[in-house]
Amino acid sequence: MTEHSLRAKVVLTGRSGVGKTSLVRRYVSDEFSERHVETVGVRVEKRTEIVNGIHVELMVWDVAGEMSLTSLQQVYLSGAVAIVYVADGTDLECVAGYQSYIDSCRAILDDPFEVALLNKIDLPPDERALELFEEVDIADRWKASAKAGTSVQACFQSIAAYIVKRHENI
Ligand code: GDP
Ligand code: MG
Repeated sequence: MTEHSLRAKVVLTGRSGVGKTSLVRRYVSDEFSERHVETVGVRVEKRTEIVNGIHVELMVWDVAGEMSLTSLQQVYLSGAVAIVYVADGTDLECVAGYQSYIDSCRAILDDPFEVALLNKIDLPPDERALELFEEVDIADRWKASAKAGTSVQACFQSIAAYIVKRHENI
């Protein structure tokens, strides 16, 4: 690592089927598949963003999480500089459990940059799920679609920009 390159662990988490693997795939390879293949354990992909001439290598961890985190999931989450909480905008039950999932992750994390991402906005949303999403206690919120590509690159670029800013403030 030179002074002009940084590397950071970014975790995408949320329950199975919300589109974590699809978001990572869209981000890293600009591809999408309709198939849902259950991600076993964890997957790590990387992509480099350039912010103000600084190369930021994002190590993107795809970590499935349900309401109660297993000790293995806790290990996967640890050391995250940024965390993207993914929910499915068409699924009310998913968004209803979202805040408590965020809280349980917060309990074990060391103050990462937090992003809430509502995926599948190419589909008609569940209106109540949208309302609940807006009420989530979080600084940064995105509505995105891995299928259409909406806001996927922009979300990761904002994370890279945060990482550079944080580095410059140290
Ligand atoms: P994961 O379990 O969170 O990794 O979810 P996947 O990425 O495997 O996606 C689950 C299912 O949702 C798959 O059938 C995807 O094709 C579909 N999916 C993921 N993202 C989107 C999206 O933005 N829009 C739509 N319409 N479907 C999506
Ligand atoms: Mg997956």
